[in-house]
Amino acid sequence: MNPPIVLASTYHAGGDVGYGRYGNPTWEMLETAVGALEGGVATSFASGLAAVAAVVDLVPNGGIVVASPASYYGTLTLLTRLEATGRLRVRLVDLTDRDAGTEALQGADLCWVESPTNPLLRTVDLDDLAARTGVAGAMLAVDNTFATPILQRPLQSGADVVVHSATKYLSGHADLLLGVAVASDAVLVERLVAYRSTNGAVPGTVESWLALRGLRTLHVRVERAQSNATELVRRLGEHPAVAEVHYPGIGAMVSVVLHGDAAGADEVAASTELWVHATSLGGVESSLERRRKWPGENAEVPETLLRLSVGIEDVDDLWADLAAALDGAT
Ligand SMILES: *Cc1c(COP(=O)(O)O)cnc(C)c1O
Repeated sequence: MNPPIVLASTYHAGGDVGYGRYGNPTWEMLETAVGALEGGVATSFASGLAAVAAVVDLVPNGGIVVASPASYYGTLTLLTRLEATGRLRVRLVDLTDRDAGTEALQGADLCWVESPTNPLLRTVDLDDLAARTGVAGAMLAVDNTFATPILQRPLQSGADVVVHSATKYLSGHADLLLGVAVASDAVLVERLVAYRSTNGAVPGTVESWLALRGLRTLHVRVERAQSNATELVRRLGEHPAVAEVHYPGIGAMVSVVLHGDAAGADEVAASTELWVHATSLGGVESSLERRRKWPGENAEVPETLLRLSVGIEDVDDLWADLAAALDGAT
């Protein structure tokens, strides 16, 4: 029933793989499963950001990357650093704005998109964006970490590459870091694997095994977390401390903007007992944080916005804890 954890840096000569940086049977089992879910060929990496870096490396020298200013902070930091060294050029544009997006795509090499966006949870029509990216002659990469392949399969919409921080929903238990990049085109897959080997961005074997174990319950976790989120969104909308609820209708990420100031929102985040006050997301345990406490967060995000990663606990327990924290703040 269970695949082996193959702990080997070196293999006997004469086989398919000679050395552990070039391949491992445990990685392959995870890659086969994620590839089947996304409808492409998966390559696993040491972390989500390592997978992001591998995809960005597909851009030719001096090439242009179009990305949303609401992209994952680590992705934006990487792009900014590569721009500073002259490796590539970056056009930051709100990809939920169709006209601005189409204009920015002229002459671009890669379009980087997340949908739903973090943390305002706006969505982008991926079929439409893939068509416009194709007309511009650029590649489309979708970070599908928030939606998961249970709810959204970007390769079917025409994306060229899908990236995951498998640290989040795919593994689902907040106990490892891992990344995956999935593509259908054989040349792209080969380049991603070559990047991993030459840059040493290899996943850990035990992490791959744990991720595969987590993946077995992905559909059940997503279903339960989404149904919890839907119910919490309804109750949050009626709470007097809440000014706005952002929820795209899919998934288990919810953002709430509170009345009052940042200190009040910090107090709410710090006073829950069941909800863990922490960054990151996608685990079985619910967590929350005030996003603007991070200096790098997009200035468009309200100071009192709390981002909630809804887990799979009992929804009444989750609500009782959250409501007590919100009542305290009002
Ligand atoms: C966490 C995250 C990443 C980075 O993944 P790591 O596994 O932390 O390196 C990239 N994109 C999104 C949307 C994330 O949430």
